[in-house]
Amino acid sequence: MFDINNLVRENIKKLTPYSSARDEFKGEAKVYLDANENSLGSPLMKWYNRYPDPLQWKVKEKLSEIKTVPPQNMFLGNGSDECIDLLYRAFCNPGKDNVIICPPTYGMYEVSANINDIEVRKAPLLDDFQLNLAHIEQLADANTKIIWICSPNNPTGNSLNREDIETVLNNFNGLVVVDEAYINFSRQRSFLKELTEYPNLVVMQTLSKAWGLAGLRLGMMFASEAIINIINKVKPPYNIGQHTQEIVLQALENTDQVNDMIMMIVDMRYALEEVFNQMPIVEKIYPSDANFLLVKMQNADEVYNYLLNEGIVVRNRSKVTLCEGGLRITVGTEQENTALVDALGSYIGQLKFEKATNNG
Ligand SMILES: *Cc1c(COP(=O)(O)O)cnc(C)c1O
Repeated sequence: MFDINNLVRENIKKLTPYSSARDEFKGEAKVYLDANENSLGSPLMKWYNRYPDPLQWKVKEKLSEIKTVPPQNMFLGNGSDECIDLLYRAFCNPGKDNVIICPPTYGMYEVSANINDIEVRKAPLLDDFQLNLAHIEQLADANTKIIWICSPNNPTGNSLNREDIETVLNNFNGLVVVDEAYINFSRQRSFLKELTEYPNLVVMQTLSKAWGLAGLRLGMMFASEAIINIINKVKPPYNIGQHTQEIVLQALENTDQVNDMIMMIVDMRYALEEVFNQMPIVEKIYPSDANFLLVKMQNADEVYNYLLNEGIVVRNRSKVTLCEGGLRITVGTEQENTALVDALGSYIGQLKFEKATNNG
């Protein structure tokens, strides 16, 4: 029933992709004079004068061991943001097609849609921050190409019910993108194992969060080979630089260190939750499966500004529908968390003092 050929844009289906020098000659040669590179070298100790592998096979093979997904089912992008943009460019006709998002959620699904002139339809999460399946069903029509699902969700922090995501996967004939940027912190298991079951499933992950490599820009997309091949046709030929590929390969050797950091961050998230729970200004701490907490506070804007004054930046989500009064607080180092808790303590102390002096 699901046929990717019905989904891909006509111009992309017909596209003859750019064929780079590295595409046209593969293998080992003595002399490379095919790519207009500078054979003399680079003005650095280490040379970067050669174009990198356009499909990053070494990185994908290493990732394949970690994720137990075959390399040909992977796409690597310059951050998840490139993955999001490429999905629009490959599957959504500007001015004609639409996608569904479930706010409050990650902002780039909508911004990237706007850049690509794709209509965005909104099925807000329910009060418990779970999917509104009836609303999603009502919004979807023949031109709906993608449903974006973020789990654990940003900025709410919760995982979405697995059965609900499966319902969407089973009943929607377009792509269902499950953004798992925070999956390493979650008690829920990843949808990667379900790739073979659902031809319309795309799983996104990133090295920006648990892996601690936000500065490198490496986003990952996992899907059927048919979907990956289409995205590969559309992507810029050398979208991941040589240096990034090398450094990522090194980082991927250190999974133990990453797992230790994940455990520490989750432990500190629980500890922060306990401390916030004692604070009179805190109205609600939403359950988190991520590396941050969404905390509903009295006078959230004032608290936000107070913290700013103390040199502590959190994310103010207090104006976001369904997150009213919410500050999104990333779990930091022990020192950073202590600084935050101390600052909130001083703020509360000041409030008490003001109240006492007003009454007296
Ligand atoms: C942080 C985040 C990403 C990661 O984006 P990168 O471009 O890979 O850094 C993706 N999705 C969500 C929901 C995020 O919060």
